[in-house]
Amino acid sequence: MPSATTTRDPAPPACVLDRQGLDALVQALRARGRTVIGPTHRGGAIVLEELRSAAELPYGWGVELDGGHYRVVRREDEAAFAHSAGPQSWKNYLLPERVRQWTADRAPDGELTVRQERHPPASYAFLGVRPCDLRAIAIQDRVLLGGWHRDDAYQARRNGAFLIAVECTEPGATCFCVSMGTGPAAGPGYDIALTEVLDETGHRFLARAGTAEGAEVLAGLPQRDADAATRTAAAEAVESAAGRMGRSMPPVDLHTLMASSLEAERWDEVASRCLTCGNCTMACPTCFCTTTEDITDLTGDHAERWSRWESCYDLDFSHLPGGPVRQSGRSRYRQWLTHKLGTWWDQFGSSGCVGCGRCIVWCPVAIDITEEAHALHQEQLARRAAGEGTP
Ligand code: SF4
Ligand code: SF4
Repeated sequence: MPSATTTRDPAPPACVLDRQGLDALVQALRARGRTVIGPTHRGGAIVLEELRSAAELPYGWGVELDGGHYRVVRREDEAAFAHSAGPQSWKNYLLPERVRQWTADRAPDGELTVRQERHPPASYAFLGVRPCDLRAIAIQDRVLLGGWHRDDAYQARRNGAFLIAVECTEPGATCFCVSMGTGPAAGPGYDIALTEVLDETGHRFLARAGTAEGAEVLAGLPQRDADAATRTAAAEAVESAAGRMGRSMPPVDLHTLMASSLEAERWDEVASRCLTCGNCTMACPTCFCTTTEDITDLTGDHAERWSRWESCYDLDFSHLPGGPVRQSGRSRYRQWLTHKLGTWWDQFGSSGCVGCGRCIVWCPVAIDITEEAHALHQEQLARRAAGEGTP
């Protein structure tokens, strides 16, 4: 089971970039042919889009989060990364919502031509990958590349992705990475890691390379050696963030809690509120389920097959001969939560939740995964106290 990842190497090789250095980083990656994707303020949200310059980062914007609530707010400083997880995650680029797989056309003479969709290999640079999302990418790697049924299109996008992590210094009210052991310090998997520092000495970014390519990119940027004051300020900012998490999971083995809660009464309570809309699965950076969908035009001469995200909250998700296996909202919510926190360990060797809080923010009725886990834990304790003897 995970432990908190706030322990840091006291003095890893590092340099300091200023705002011009950050822009030079974006330009250097673009010059290498990469499409730089990062956060920007658009349409009342911090969204992930292509950045042509670091000036498009959301300098001076933060977010106000709660269950079913998201609002972008002006900050008093000019921080670029003082916002936590937004409505999208990197899976929007690595595992896009809809992908055409093939097309088929029938000519007037009846000859059928089937064309496999060819996607040019993507070459992304993701700027601003939060430590929890870094872990989410590693989880999707295990799911989509680690088994017998490798997703080659995902592999191509993933191979071309250069990851620039940004450690969290401003956690949101719905964040709980500390109790999932996924942040706020960056774990392994990045090419470059940045920590934003804003103090009386100025606005700057402590930068470390995690790969040879990351070191090569950093070496070409205007920079200065990492000084002790910047290192200390960066470490303190991350340490402070660890102490300001908005939420936490109960301090128990969640895998065991889920396995012993299958008949809990709490499932009825949460099912009475859950709309089974599937928003939580769409927003979740680790949810990976897709389905295929075939369409034809009105003449019947043109057909296409698409893959698209699918949600375990859909009634048809568990459709077998005879009908859906999970017919009630209770069974579908229970499936989602027990998979995320429990059986994911059995399948993939980790939790399926990284504590980003997106499912809490984007649930229209503010259902909170941490609140549900606490409620299940309390119900288990109450049963034990009543001598009912849960495992
Ligand atoms: S938990 Fe919330 S977001 Fe998820 S399916 Fe239920 S109502 Fe929708
Ligand atoms: S289950 Fe919720 S908190 Fe956990 S990773 Fe998914 S969206 Fe984030």
